[in-house]
Amino acid sequence: MISPEIINKLFDIASIEEVVGEYVMLKRAGANYKGLCPFHDDKSPSMSVSPSKGIFKCFSCGQGGNIFQFIMEHEGLSYPLAIKHLADKYNVPIEEGQIDVTELKEEARVKEGVYACLEFARKYFYERLNESQDGKVVYKPYLLERGIAQQTIDTFSIGLSGTQRTDLLDEGLKNGYGAQQLYDAGLVKKINDAEGVIPSNLRDTFIERIVFPIFSVSGKVLGFGGRIIKKDTKAPKYLNSPETVVYEKRKELYGLSVGKNDIRLKDRAFLVEGYMDVVSLNQSGVENVIAASGTAFTEEQARLIKRFTHNITMLFDGDVAGVNASLKHIKTLLAADLNVEVALFPPDEDPDSFIQKRGTSAFKEYVTEKSQNFIGLIAEVTLGNQKNDPIKKAETARSIAENIAALPDPLKRAAFINETANLLQIPERVLIDEVNKFKQENRKQKEQEQRREERIQEKQNSSDTSSSYNYVPEFTSFTTAEALLVDKKSYQEQDLLKTLILFADQEFDEEHSVAEYIFKELQEEEIWPVSKEFETVFKDAYAYLLEHKMLNELYFIRNPSTSKMAAGILSQRHKLSPGWEDNFEKIVKTEDDNYKHQVVQNLNYLKLNHIEILMKENQEKMKCAETEQEVLHCQQYHAVLQEIRKKITDEIGTVIL
Ligand SMILES: [Zn+2]
Repeated sequence: MISPEIINKLFDIASIEEVVGEYVMLKRAGANYKGLCPFHDDKSPSMSVSPSKGIFKCFSCGQGGNIFQFIMEHEGLSYPLAIKHLADKYNVPIEEGQIDVTELKEEARVKEGVYACLEFARKYFYERLNESQDGKVVYKPYLLERGIAQQTIDTFSIGLSGTQRTDLLDEGLKNGYGAQQLYDAGLVKKINDAEGVIPSNLRDTFIERIVFPIFSVSGKVLGFGGRIIKKDTKAPKYLNSPETVVYEKRKELYGLSVGKNDIRLKDRAFLVEGYMDVVSLNQSGVENVIAASGTAFTEEQARLIKRFTHNITMLFDGDVAGVNASLKHIKTLLAADLNVEVALFPPDEDPDSFIQKRGTSAFKEYVTEKSQNFIGLIAEVTLGNQKNDPIKKAETARSIAENIAALPDPLKRAAFINETANLLQIPERVLIDEVNKFKQENRKQKEQEQRREERIQEKQNSSDTSSSYNYVPEFTSFTTAEALLVDKKSYQEQDLLKTLILFADQEFDEEHSVAEYIFKELQEEEIWPVSKEFETVFKDAYAYLLEHKMLNELYFIRNPSTSKMAAGILSQRHKLSPGWEDNFEKIVKTEDDNYKHQVVQNLNYLKLNHIEILMKENQEKMKCAETEQEVLHCQQYHAVLQEIRKKITDEIGTVIL
């Protein structure tokens, strides 16, 4: 059990707009905020955040809930772990035993262990750099010499790995971390692949390296990038953590946790190639910088950065490798509907060396002067100064057309086609045909991929009948007809619950609030919800009402089992933007005014269903009756039930055949 004080304290201090704003750029829209939903590929802001209610809701994919739901979904954590996550973040102390680890699912537990190991390693590496003998004598002077100041070391938590083969392993084991956990975290490797994860078969992943922790957007350590210092070695210059349960390279951007606020503020991100570029620019006061960890920019990374800005300027070396790397990134960035510019640095210079040599203002001037869109870049690279060479021209046009075809926005495509036609002196018509050819190819490719995925999905579904997609509620003890009745009842229970969430603390009559009236009726008529789905929800809410003498939407927003539903229906009511309000005012008003009627109707339908279930049960009993007495008894009961049913149907105004 997690103490309610902790949860309530977190609700008080961690506002929804701050928690969500950590991951998503939010813009004010009246009393609420809007932003791109991180849970689906959102093209226009579909997510609404309501500070007054403490909820978020996506009108496209349906995700919604309170601060904990957001963290659960976004970080892939269980409820208790999401609480712990926010408690850590907001410095709310949790005492031993307050969060029961046995409640946690296996995967969540593994993740938690991995996160703990990574944080331990970060601290260990950082202390080694700043406090150990070789750190102070050899490695820190090296960094300082390269222009990395202490403040930057602190900001990015730069550290030094062990120098022996098992320094971190030994230290980790000594501090109570398991060999398996350290292995799952990617901090140690197997020496012999065929053997197990036991200390004698393990060695550190990072040896004699300067290590840069890779942080998630929210600032959790996911892994490390290590740079070797020694020159006389065969080991690779750069080494990254392997992919783990918490680290998926294609989803992360180095520097985002540090730079995200500045990226929002400037509404632009500089994309660079290496960790050192990020660190060095940051130190010189250019904080809106990210790096894509070596690989080509992925769709996921594009989606991630889009939450903070739509404008990217790539800052790459002007050498062949740098140009090719930037060309590789462009298509993904364009396809994600990002506005991309590129500024190439002189050969043999990278952003790091440039800013260190020439200073911040020269750097900024250079970037402004050299920034060009992808058309300019491709023309510069492919065409160079052979502007009249027809073969080069065709090659350039084709390469540009391929990139234009990736743009989702037809207006942008048209504008870029026009620009290219002017630049290359080629008729627009020819370019349009070329772009369309590429678009067709892209579509074919996508369809093929989709089919492949569908086939894989089908296979999985047929081999895994217990998957959650095929989940069938347990009605095994009912016949089909009865199951349908129960199903209907559950649907009506859901409706009643919605009414309760919306209007719980409104007045029903002089003596009762809506909540009090509903529970009084449920109690008196003995029609407590029976579906597994809602039984606990209603009972808990009733207990809360008895204890606190009040019940309102806040209770349902904060309760983990109802917050998603609450976010859904409460946001729906407040979804209307100012412009729409006039048109919809009538409808909204009607709903609010009609709530008493709605309460009565909901209860009536529920009662009706309950009666029908009783009648069914009674009929079954009659069939099995052995004495005349029993039959008579059943018949009388049937008449009573029929009477009640008629009363209710009259009230509902529906004819039941
Ligand atoms: Zn969504």
